[in-house]
Amino acid sequence: MLKIEKLHKSYPIGNSSLHVLKGIDLFVEKGEMVAIMGSSGSGKSTLLNIIGMLDEADEGSYILDEVPIKNLSEKKAAMYRNKFLGFIFQSFNLINYKNALENVALPLYYQGLKRKSRQEKAKFHLEKVGLLDWALHLPRELSGGQQQRVAIARALASNPKLLLADEPTGALDSTTSYDIMAFLQQLNEEGKTILIVTHEQDIANMCKRIVRLKDGLIIEDNFVKQLRATTDV
Ligand code: ADP
Ligand code: MG
Repeated sequence: MLKIEKLHKSYPIGNSSLHVLKGIDLFVEKGEMVAIMGSSGSGKSTLLNIIGMLDEADEGSYILDEVPIKNLSEKKAAMYRNKFLGFIFQSFNLINYKNALENVALPLYYQGLKRKSRQEKAKFHLEKVGLLDWALHLPRELSGGQQQRVAIARALASNPKLLLADEPTGALDSTTSYDIMAFLQQLNEEGKTILIVTHEQDIANMCKRIVRLKDGLIIEDNFVKQLRATTDV
């Protein structure tokens, strides 16, 4: 599913540069649920953004579902991003003047679907996250947990092969966080491959594998016993 080898990334800082990723090797198979941990500034988001094709590495190779991701045109990159990847962010990143249904339907517009099938798909996914009754509400009328569910529905609408979540529970209280994690576990059990960046150990323990970054390198990579994210813990 995902094969990363000897990946490097630096950011220019004035006349010098900051070497953030210093040779990352990471293989992920279909059906995995992986936590990427590390302290703030360790390069987690940088790595996730490269995996998500929102940014490019300076060196090394990245193969996603057999496709080498390198020197792609903007158009090709957008096409693969749309086809392969779903994103969930800490701050939900919903469009504030669009209602829940419209937010979920938006990526389908970019896939070229007709209005009717966009609406139908968006409804299906809102129902899946338990929010069909809230379809016509704006993000500000929803709780944080509900907004994140809308964002998950949006990420799922295009049926991505890989779901990427950057601190998906970072803005939520622990009950709501576990609720979101329970949902992600359910998706994973249905076969979805999921990568979750987090700096919270309890959230990482709800994944099947924990990868730990430090100073731009992977210092630990273990399969772990997955804890259930029940909301009554
Ligand atoms: P994490 O997500 O683990 O907190 P990041 O990947 O966001 O870490 O950042 C790693 C380092 O790279 C940090 O020191 C950060 O300040 C720096 N950094 C991230 N993005 C940029 C950028 N676009 N330009 C310059 N420096 C950046
Ligand atoms: Mg980050």
